[in-house]
Amino acid sequence: MSFDCVVIGGGAAGMMAAIQCKENNMQTVIIEHTAKLGTKILKTGNGKCNFSNTFMTKEMYQDNNADYAVGIINRFNVDDTIHFFENLSVYKKERNGYLYPRSEMAASVALALTGRIQALDIPVFFETSVKRIDSAGSEYVLQLEGAKTNTIKTKTVILACGSAASPSSGSDGSGYKLVKKLGIKVVKPLPALTALESDKKNMKLATGVRAYGNVKIMAAGRVVAEDTGEIQFTDYGISGIPVFQVSRFAVRAMEEGQRVEALVDVAADISEDELVSMIKCAVGTRKQQSVSESLSGIFNKKLVIMICKDIGIEGNSSASDMDDDICQKLVRHMKSLRYHITGYKGNDYAQVCQGGVNVSELNDNLESVNNPGIFFAGELVDIDGRCGGYNLQWAWSSGVVAAKSAFDYCNRQE
Ligand SMILES: Cc1cc2nc3c(=O)[nH]c(=O)nc-3n(C[C@H](O)[C@H](O)[C@H](O)COP(=O)(O)OP(=O)(O)OC[C@H]3O[C@@H](n4cnc5c(N)ncnc54)[C@H](O)[C@@H]3O)c2cc1C
Repeated sequence: MSFDCVVIGGGAAGMMAAIQCKENNMQTVIIEHTAKLGTKILKTGNGKCNFSNTFMTKEMYQDNNADYAVGIINRFNVDDTIHFFENLSVYKKERNGYLYPRSEMAASVALALTGRIQALDIPVFFETSVKRIDSAGSEYVLQLEGAKTNTIKTKTVILACGSAASPSSGSDGSGYKLVKKLGIKVVKPLPALTALESDKKNMKLATGVRAYGNVKIMAAGRVVAEDTGEIQFTDYGISGIPVFQVSRFAVRAMEEGQRVEALVDVAADISEDELVSMIKCAVGTRKQQSVSESLSGIFNKKLVIMICKDIGIEGNSSASDMDDDICQKLVRHMKSLRYHITGYKGNDYAQVCQGGVNVSELNDNLESVNNPGIFFAGELVDIDGRCGGYNLQWAWSSGVVAAKSAFDYCNRQE
């Protein structure tokens, strides 16, 4: 069996790449080691699939590779993505720049892609893995396991195996092994967009609370990242979108052996002076109630109980005991809760990985510099974006660019 392009991995990036290849009349096959295409898409955006974002800047991608990411995205941008899905009858719903399918069903995005794959008659080898990729003159020979045929030949390969995040959706990190066998360097994959674990005293008292706040990550005494939004207080530490956004920096610093702390301001929208007067007013006018009751119009009661305990008072003590000094102390603490970070939720929980195929191994067309005809797409590459549709946009754009580059490569060979 001989193909123009073999796409390894049938997730967002791989399906997009295969569709583009076949639309360019390339003989294409998808090799997927699970029994389904696009499983991870179903989990995205809490089941609604935040597939892109109209606010697209370099800052939405991390580290030194942001320029590379944006260079690829500019070649198949957010508008192109919207049009692509509209052509498949998936219309957008926009909320503050965040793009979802109008149906708000992640399945609608996966179905549109699998429908197009069926319409284009692209073969998919399910439950098949690639054992080896060997160069044979101007072609590559792939040794397969699980398919009816053990060997296939192809002019080009697009590796789109995802990362190690969310292994239950198929991305179990096996793609990195294939990449390394080709002699291509991989930056150590680590969880990103994940929750942080802590040994902070009294933190369990606030379990289940969600509060608008600011979180700063301190590594070796320096602020390395910060974000603001709805923080979730859990029995193991902190979670929620702002924590996800800063987690990669905490994970990296911990990996480097640094002491990491998260400073949480649970009143990021209120100045210290304003908060002091609000609290004095609340405890002054509701003297007959407990501290946590009197402040319940400002903060969640459980949060107040934890914060009071931190500074040595009981949340159920009388509001009348709160003098000016205690109010000041409470506010200072509320604006700077200190969580010593002892760990992080691993790949089962993380939405993406930082790390992957080293961008220095690739040319501007997502092609391996040392293995011409081998291309990469999606999260397998060392590109990770913020929450907000940026990781799927990378998957769509890199899938299209890898496919176009594979097409150009085949044309040059003829
Ligand atoms: C819970 C959750 C929510 C998310 N929400 C969002 C969101 O709302 N917006 C957003 O932009 N991003 C979101 N993401 C991230 C986004 O889903 C991923 O970045 C994106 O799906 C990556 O696409 P991919 O094709 O590179 O990898 P994947 O989608 O992981 O696909 C890889 C495919 O390759 C297959 N595969 C792996 N190894 C092999 C192998 N060796 N041989 C054959 N097949 C293989 C896998 O089975 C899988 O089908 C979320 C992620 C998670 C886990």
